[in-house]
Amino acid sequence: MSFSLGYRCTISSAWKAPSLSGGPIVGRRSRCRARPTAADLAFTDREAALGIILKGATIVELEPAAVEQADLRLEGGAITERGRDLTEGPSDEICELRGKLLLPGLVCAHHHLYTALTRGMAGAEAPEKLLRGAEGVQARLAGALDAGAIELSARIGSLEAISAGTTTIFDHHASPNALSGSLSHVARGMSEVGIRGVLCHEVTDRHGPGKGAEAIEENIAFAQEAQGRFRGMIGADASFTLSDDALDAIRDAMEVSGAGLHIHLAEQAIDERLSIERYGHSPVQRLSDNNLLGPRSILADAVHLSWPELSQVISTGSWLVHNPRSNMNNQAGYAPAGKFGLRAMLGTDGMAADMFAEAQTAYFRSREAGQPIDVLKYLANAQRLASELFQIPIGAIRPGAAADIIILDDPSPMPLSAENLAANFLFRFSARLVESVMIDGIWRMRERRPLGVGVQDLAHQAREAVAVIWERIERS
Ligand SMILES: [Zn+2]
Repeated sequence: MSFSLGYRCTISSAWKAPSLSGGPIVGRRSRCRARPTAADLAFTDREAALGIILKGATIVELEPAAVEQADLRLEGGAITERGRDLTEGPSDEICELRGKLLLPGLVCAHHHLYTALTRGMAGAEAPEKLLRGAEGVQARLAGALDAGAIELSARIGSLEAISAGTTTIFDHHASPNALSGSLSHVARGMSEVGIRGVLCHEVTDRHGPGKGAEAIEENIAFAQEAQGRFRGMIGADASFTLSDDALDAIRDAMEVSGAGLHIHLAEQAIDERLSIERYGHSPVQRLSDNNLLGPRSILADAVHLSWPELSQVISTGSWLVHNPRSNMNNQAGYAPAGKFGLRAMLGTDGMAADMFAEAQTAYFRSREAGQPIDVLKYLANAQRLASELFQIPIGAIRPGAAADIIILDDPSPMPLSAENLAANFLFRFSARLVESVMIDGIWRMRERRPLGVGVQDLAHQAREAVAVIWERIERS
């Protein structure tokens, strides 16, 4: 038995329970119409300049590693020309870079922007309390969020991201008590900063099947409406929180929306133990049995997989995200990141979206484990996935690619080359060198000043919002 959500999506009968807000999910179609429309999601924005020439840059590409002095011409959000001494058109804006480093914008493949507003509050929580468990501080924070806090948190987290040279975020959102329309609020916060986003809301049984179905509906609606700098996916929490009916609903949602899956997998050992206790199979087996593995799936963490399971996952073409700082902080264990295959990426999992710091941590931890990894490939893989979803090359610095670039002002006298790029990325580069950021052909930060965001106002709003959130968490 099944019923329709109104998005041509059929959901198994167990998920037919009334939502906590009252009334069956199927009857809430009219409420969905009140959500932001596709036109709203375009947001107001400045147009990309007619033509910009970036002169005298030291252009750096990650994969394959390349370093070359050249000019770039940008138009309409894309790179249109690359070469030495490009000729200026009469209306071109000229930007002299005088040898500064120009890199493609970095991509964070797994984040939780909703934690940005209250960063630091989890400090006293013991890792063994499972931060993401039902009683964990992260779950209590998610439960305390309202629309305003969601938007504010997304804005703050996006600001952190561009300040560190991150131009695209794959975000995994959760706000069970402010669920409907929540992804539009995340998008609105990100849009003010100008960053790209691939968004989803986690589906889970933790809050009852009504909330699960509502999350499915939210994911489908956003994925179908997202455009411009936004794309949608179907989000899911760890599979031990998902019944068989929930997995069915997720697969149906992927088919209906055409969107991929973004799920936590085997972050903690408990994921496998509870999965077997409750459903008789391991997380990988359950995902495989439900056709949820494949090139449209992003699997975050993958710490506790057996070699055969990891091999099985890789053979499906799934994307794997290594989150070293988060895994270390949560004492989750060390993921076999060196064996993640050709679709390995890096994410920050709620830590600030600083991919320089994440890449450096990934590398140092892998050295400690005696399994050093090539972090530039991991960063380039996330750009490759973003390219697929946005249907424009992201990460390449050549004609036809998206004008998502960052400028590093690096006073080091050491000459940079393709051969020493990886070492320089690890031991010399950092977020503090990021001077300017352009996304989709529009400057979002110039000379370390974010454009279009009032930092002081934001700080004031954040202080007020945090006090309210903190009170709700203490009451929860
Ligand atoms: Zn996560």
